[in-house]
Amino acid sequence: MIINFDRTAAYRCPGCGEIAFGDFSMFELSGNKSVSVQCSCGQSSLLIAPENKNNFIITIQCMVCDDEHKFSLPFQSLAKKDCTEYTCPNVMVGLVFIGRSEAVHSAVMHSEHYIEEVIAACGLEHTGKNGVTMLKALDKIQELSDREKLFCECGSNMIDVEVQEDNLILECCMCGASVTLTADMIRNSDFSHLEQLILKKKK
Ligand SMILES: [Zn+2]
Ligand SMILES: [Zn+2]
Ligand SMILES: [Zn+2]
Repeated sequence: MIINFDRTAAYRCPGCGEIAFGDFSMFELSGNKSVSVQCSCGQSSLLIAPENKNNFIITIQCMVCDDEHKFSLPFQSLAKKDCTEYTCPNVMVGLVFIGRSEAVHSAVMHSEHYIEEVIAACGLEHTGKNGVTMLKALDKIQELSDREKLFCECGSNMIDVEVQEDNLILECCMCGASVTLTADMIRNSDFSHLEQLILKKKK
């Protein structure tokens, strides 16, 4: 039997919204050494660090909820499992995939397919790679609206939401004031932690 020590890690990049892939060897994790996988956009990385000799800790900035998540990866799983998958604890979206290259690629495809279905079910097919970002933004906007924290300076809380491929546009139904949020802004600002959103009245 040939033992293969090569592993692949994939994760959803909070910077660009794409899935980042990186290869490493289990030998790189020997001793106290950690491995980091960086997205080709350069805006994020995934860190795999030894906690003790039986366990690793994976650290990632979550693209869905903007929090930092830590996941535990037992040495046994890394050594024996084809693919270990981690989802965001707040939203069931696959975030991190670690294991053998082929299994990781197929798990990512599976997860992408599932997300595409969810996005299509929400009528957001046209958002392409920004689908998860837009879903997250709509969820946040709904939450703000439910808490009456989404309104216009003119006093109206009748706000229309339009989702385009790269932008999300909020428009006041009363005075026409609008704000455009780009997918990049949503990903790279602290959008999930916004306390309120106020449209500026049209002058
Ligand atoms: Zn990226
Ligand atoms: Zn999360
Ligand atoms: Zn208004």
